[in-house]
Amino acid sequence: MNLNTITAIKRPTSADEIGEWRDGYAWIAGGTWLFSTPQVRTDTLIDLQSLGWPALQASDDGLEIAATCTLAELTRFNAPQEWKAAPLFKMCCESLLASFKVWNAATVGGNICMSLPAGSLISLTASLEGVYTLWPRGAEPRKVPAVAFVTGNNKNVLRPGELLRSIHLPAKALSKRFAFRRASLTHLGRSAIIVIGTVGAGDLVLTVTAATERPFQIHFERLPDEYTLRKALNAVIPDAAYFNDVHGSASYKRHLTYYFAEQVRAELLQGAQQ
Ligand SMILES: Cc1cc2nc3c(=O)[nH]c(=O)nc-3n(C[C@H](O)[C@H](O)[C@H](O)COP(=O)(O)OP(=O)(O)OC[C@H]3O[C@@H](n4cnc5c(N)ncnc54)[C@H](O)[C@@H]3O)c2cc1C
Repeated sequence: MNLNTITAIKRPTSADEIGEWRDGYAWIAGGTWLFSTPQVRTDTLIDLQSLGWPALQASDDGLEIAATCTLAELTRFNAPQEWKAAPLFKMCCESLLASFKVWNAATVGGNICMSLPAGSLISLTASLEGVYTLWPRGAEPRKVPAVAFVTGNNKNVLRPGELLRSIHLPAKALSKRFAFRRASLTHLGRSAIIVIGTVGAGDLVLTVTAATERPFQIHFERLPDEYTLRKALNAVIPDAAYFNDVHGSASYKRHLTYYFAEQVRAELLQGAQQ
């Protein structure tokens, strides 16, 4: 749609060019959400693509994903063989309601900063123990664990004008075995629930997203039995945290969380015994 409140577009070549932040400014990445709905309080768009950040940089430490990396670029990434969790990139990109046109425009950072429960790049980066680098206006950069970035439905820790610069996925997490479960009311629709488990040297990291307003993550020192898993889910995720919307009731999402978590546990246990 045309945004008829916009009177200026800035295309900085460095984020420092945007010193002072004021109401009416908005960063624009792929624009797939910004152009989908009226933005009555916005008069100036600041284009992040003109900053020219390299999309993906792999090293022995892991993978640095620029906030401006598109979903299409992420799915095309050719990961080293030892990064066993890399298939999650495509699985999570396929967990949004998005056509191929959206894949070519929507960015990893835009998805994360929207901070919707169904933000499946949040699911990806939280489950792979990612750390986000944030660039506040007029202050030093800071780092926030992916699992702590989203604080509620469409809410996060960003301060006014603060930029998500990049996402670091550690090689250790990328090298883990994983199991993935997802449900959506429509085949290619918005996710109602995503449960991802990763296993390193016997420990389990279980991440629940989409069913809840923010990500929940549980660390087990070793693969738990079914009873211990249920007990931990009960203790960590309060009933009130399950998200009620047109994609499913809170009780439906709670039910699927337990159902999928047990499937994830069983699948990873089977792999461990081989
Ligand atoms: C039909 C439709 C279906 C959708 N389905 C889903 C879905 O299933 N799940 C889902 O999560 N989303 C969905 N969306 C919302 C949106 O399209 C996606 O979240 C997309 O990934 C946003 O990325 P973008 O790069 O286009 O962000 P933009 O639209 O450019 O920006 C989104 C918001 O994030 C801010 N922003 C962007 N990048 C940064 C940054 N680096 N630092 C700080 N702020 C930033 C912008 O200012 C804006 O407020 C849907 C949208 C539409 C129209």
